[in-house]
Amino acid sequence: MSLSSDIKEYALNLGFTRAGLCPADDFTDHLRETAGRGDDYAFHLHRPGLPLSDCHPRRIMPGARSIAVLALDYARVAFPEKLSRMVGRIYQARCYNPPADSLNGARLELMGRFLSGRGLKVNYSQAVPARPAGARAGIIDFGRNTFAYAGRHGSFIVLYTFLLDKELDYDRPTLKSRCPPDCRACQEACPTGALAAPFILKPLLCLAFNAWKTQPATGNGISAYIPAAIREKMAAHIHGCDLCQAACPRNRRKVEDRFPEDPFLKLLDDDFSLSRVLAMPESFFEKRIRPIMYNYIQEPKYFQRNAAVALGNQGDPDSGPELVRALGSPHDIVRGHAAWALGKIGGKKSAAALEAALNGEPDGEVKREMLSAREALAV
Ligand code: SF4
Ligand code: SF4
Repeated sequence: MSLSSDIKEYALNLGFTRAGLCPADDFTDHLRETAGRGDDYAFHLHRPGLPLSDCHPRRIMPGARSIAVLALDYARVAFPEKLSRMVGRIYQARCYNPPADSLNGARLELMGRFLSGRGLKVNYSQAVPARPAGARAGIIDFGRNTFAYAGRHGSFIVLYTFLLDKELDYDRPTLKSRCPPDCRACQEACPTGALAAPFILKPLLCLAFNAWKTQPATGNGISAYIPAAIREKMAAHIHGCDLCQAACPRNRRKVEDRFPEDPFLKLLDDDFSLSRVLAMPESFFEKRIRPIMYNYIQEPKYFQRNAAVALGNQGDPDSGPELVRALGSPHDIVRGHAAWALGKIGGKKSAAALEAALNGEPDGEVKREMLSAREALAV
């Protein structure tokens, strides 16, 4: 057996769904496409480090010759309905950039150990553009919603890439999408028009993007104040959005089949609500948020902001008191988005709370939020 087939067999033995190998050449098409999209991807240029350097695998690991690309089907358990309205399935599955002390982290660690043990220099890289790498390695094709699809496993998969320093036997790339010619279900399901055309995602309109990229501390130049038009569409989503995948006929089996319960997710689901996120103490953050949402958002205030928006969208007057309390948050973005949510909920109590908070509000941006919430109430 060749080293190439040994690598793929070991990956399948570890539980990965698919494994492929491709050369570690630059991702020039991806680079051209992303750089050519102007304003849509301007935030890349604000990133610390070299923008789009991830398209050059040999900048990540000098001497890289090959990429092992592995896919894991993470939709093999039932995702609780309530939690899934708030949190995307991929986060619930704890498989996206998993920490070393997790099951999926251990799986990656074992894979890395196997590769090193076979004499390869290895770099497990989260930077390589995984979807183009997956297509180059022949294990996925692109859906028109821009997600990667692995045959009957659909798009609820996660991709991992290992850079390797030896030439291997490469798989045949997937060049064509397997979407049915006339299907537009994903575009129709997207509430914001983020899927502007087949294979074109406008990130600034995507709910998933807005829930996490809106963290100025990451240096991407994007405001922490989510645009009002996006807030309206966020429904209850505080982290991730699966709407364009859930509507896809290629995922029908994954959405409709019954899968076994995940007791840990059940435990989280029982304990999880938007109100609890908005008012969370540190223990809730550590026990209920971090175990599944450990990647993109490091500070609780962003989850609280998103929860305030979601509560506003629900429009339930019962959440009024919690939102009023949030007007006293030490974090300006929580106060600002809570004000917006009170404007959506309406009522005399919301109006009185906004009036009282306006008087003592020190932050100009929050004041503007409060004033427009008050205006919304007056309509
Ligand atoms: S993840 Fe949600 S908001 Fe983003 S493109 Fe898909 S449906 Fe639209
Ligand atoms: S909804 Fe239709 S067009 Fe969109 S990814 Fe699925 S099959 Fe392709």
